[in-house]
Amino acid sequence: MQTDEQGVLRPAVCMESAMDCADVLVIGSGFAGLSAAIEAAQAGASVLVLEKMRAPGGNSIISDGGIAAPGTTYQLDAGIEDSPELMYADMLTAGEGLNFPELVKIITEGALDAFLWTRDDLGVHYLNRVDIFGGHSVARCYTPEGVSGAALIKALLARLKQLSVPICLGAYVETLLQDESGRVIGVQYLEGYQHGQPMPHSKKVILARKAVIVAAGGFGSDVWFRKAQDPRLDDHLMSTNKPSATAEILKTCMGIGANPVQLSRIQLGAWASPDETGFGAGPLFGDYVVFPYGILVDPATGGRFTSELSDRRVLAEALLRQKHPVIGIADAAAVKREGWDLSKAIAKGVVKTFGSWEKLAEHYQIDPAALQKSVARFNEMVRRGLDEDYHKPILKEASPLEVPPFYGMRLWPKVHHTMGGIQVDTSARVIHRDQYPIPGLFAAGEVTGGIHGACRLGSCAITECLVMGRIAGKRAASA
Ligand SMILES: Cc1cc2nc3c(=O)[nH]c(=O)nc-3n(C[C@H](O)[C@H](O)[C@H](O)COP(=O)(O)OP(=O)(O)OC[C@H]3O[C@@H](n4cnc5c(N)ncnc54)[C@H](O)[C@@H]3O)c2cc1C
Repeated sequence: MQTDEQGVLRPAVCMESAMDCADVLVIGSGFAGLSAAIEAAQAGASVLVLEKMRAPGGNSIISDGGIAAPGTTYQLDAGIEDSPELMYADMLTAGEGLNFPELVKIITEGALDAFLWTRDDLGVHYLNRVDIFGGHSVARCYTPEGVSGAALIKALLARLKQLSVPICLGAYVETLLQDESGRVIGVQYLEGYQHGQPMPHSKKVILARKAVIVAAGGFGSDVWFRKAQDPRLDDHLMSTNKPSATAEILKTCMGIGANPVQLSRIQLGAWASPDETGFGAGPLFGDYVVFPYGILVDPATGGRFTSELSDRRVLAEALLRQKHPVIGIADAAAVKREGWDLSKAIAKGVVKTFGSWEKLAEHYQIDPAALQKSVARFNEMVRRGLDEDYHKPILKEASPLEVPPFYGMRLWPKVHHTMGGIQVDTSARVIHRDQYPIPGLFAAGEVTGGIHGACRLGSCAITECLVMGRIAGKRAASA
């Protein structure tokens, strides 16, 4: 660490930038951080993004890039009626009312604008489809071409480049610096950080003339910290997150008084396969095909056990209650209707195809008669348009499962999203545990808590990151 003659910390020059201080410092280069940096720079602030990894993008770049918004032309064309109020109601229902309503309101009212910003201003290309995921009452989720958050990250990075905003990589922020009044005035970081290697010794300080924005993501890969919140989530459960999704900045913020909210609300992805690591190729089948059109069966009984279109929390809990992986099943008609290319999942052996129900039952060691009975019962309910057993909404495009080949996949939950984090207000200011905004400190994205309550609905995280990230950037620039 560099000090002057009086032993005072001196700002250091960043690895990839000649800056020794900036108006706004952004910690993290995912959706929230990059959106914040763009808005702050467009508002005239000098901005520097600090990212601990050697590449930008965080969990955002490996996400599916699915974003939720009500009132789009895609919905109008498909005859879907939607509104910010309906999306708000859906988020509160899934969140079991634990969500901070004022934040949900800001996000649902800003969702359409955020989506159009990515499409019309940043130039992200979306597939011409609108999807429904469990817990949404209508289809309102849009997927970029390539089914990857990388498309969005690429567009955000391109805009940052136009704005000449530098990103300092390998910069592991460990301390938030405050003046005597408690205002956050900069950060101390370790220079040359490489994940999985011993911590570097070179400490640097960089000052923020206006504000620091924390956009350091969630803690899904921080096994000790997540287990401390929910003891069930030990290292026996895999995670879809990058190994970099850890809690150090969250703890740093708490260390200067930021109020933690709902940290034990950790989401498991029920569409994941235990037969591959990370997010993998299987969720394309689980989430987009099995849940809307197929069935989940317990191999021990051959029977269904839940509505496959339940929200993520309900589904994951239902899977955990089975105590072993369950089987997701669909037919060729469902796969064709959804139109996804499942070749990667099939080549990996995660999704398998079978010429008959008997063969599928044999492979997954399900009693064939019990499976036939479950499929026949489900098909009968699809024909009637009513799931009397588990109240799964039968979508109007759904058809009985009867067209071979039949598709199967083992499913078991993985740690996916951390709904809890530090408390922010509608201006993205970080709230102190003594109920005042910490001067000079803003936050956005998965590092914040209370927006999704008990359960985040699919595609709502990206909407949240963009809406709150942009607010944080604008407010920080005028702090
Ligand atoms: C596989 C996967 C698929 C998903 N798909 C979807 C989807 O389709 N739709 C949806 O809505 N949501 C999805 N999500 C959730 C969503 O992607 C995340 O909630 C969102 O990307 C988080 O963005 P963020 O900007 O808050 O954090 P991140 O994108 O994780 O970025 C945080 C950054 O901060 C950096 N950082 C952390 N600590 C420090 C430190 N000490 N110093 C410096 N830098 C630091 C990290 O390295 C990281 O780059 C998915 C998540 C995963 C894991």
